Amino acid sequence: MYNAESIEQLVDEFSSLPGIGRKSAHRLAMHILKLPKQEVLNIAEALVNVKEKIKYCAVCWNFTEESPCKICSNAQRNHSIICVVEDPNDVIAIEKTHEYKGMYHVLGDALSPLDGIGPEDLKIKELLQRMDGSFQEIILAMNSSIEGEATTIYLSKLLKPLGVKVTRLARGIPIGSDLEFTDQATLVRALEARVEV
Ligand SMILES: [Zn+2]
Repeated sequence: MYNAESIEQLVDEFSSLPGIGRKSAHRLAMHILKLPKQEVLNIAEALVNVKEKIKYCAVCWNFTEESPCKICSNAQRNHSIICVVEDPNDVIAIEKTHEYKGMYHVLGDALSPLDGIGPEDLKIKELLQRMDGSFQEIILAMNSSIEGEATTIYLSKLLKPLGVKVTRLARGIPIGSDLEFTDQATLVRALEARVEV
C-alpha cells in the first residue's frame, strides 16, 4: 500500500499483536516513522531486553529477572498464605493494593474447554507440588468470568482434600471483569471479605 516493503512489514508485525487491528498497526507504524532514530532504538532495545532478561519464577511462575522472584524470596512476607491468580497482571493489581503480604501462584490462564485450555495447560501440577503442609490458606483469586469460576471450582475440589483452608475473593468484583482492571478499593474489599470455599 505504501510501496515500501519495510513499512508493510512493520504494519504486519504490529497487527499480529493482541488488540491491535490493521488500522492501529498503521497508526503505530506512522508514529515510529516520525520518531527520532534514538527513540526507535530505545524501543527496540526494550523489546529485546524483556525477551532476554525475563523468565518465569520457578516457584510461583510469575515473570521475574531472577528466580526465585523478589516476592518468593522475601522473608518479610507471609509464607503460610498463597494467592492463586490467572496471570502476572493480577499479581501487579493485588500488589498495588498493599493489602496482601503473602505468596502467589500464577496459573498462566484459566480453564476454558471451548478454547482447548485444560488443567494440564495451567500450572496446577506445580501448585499441588507446593502443597507440602506449609500453607495455612489458599486464596483463589480468579477473574470473575465463566472460565475463572470453572477454575475456582476445579481447584477447590483438588485442594480441599489436602486439609488446607481454601478461600475465594468476595463477590465485590463485577461479573465478567478482570482483576487487573478492577479498581483498588473493590479489590481490597474482595480480599478482606474473602469467603471459605
Ligand atoms: Zn516467585
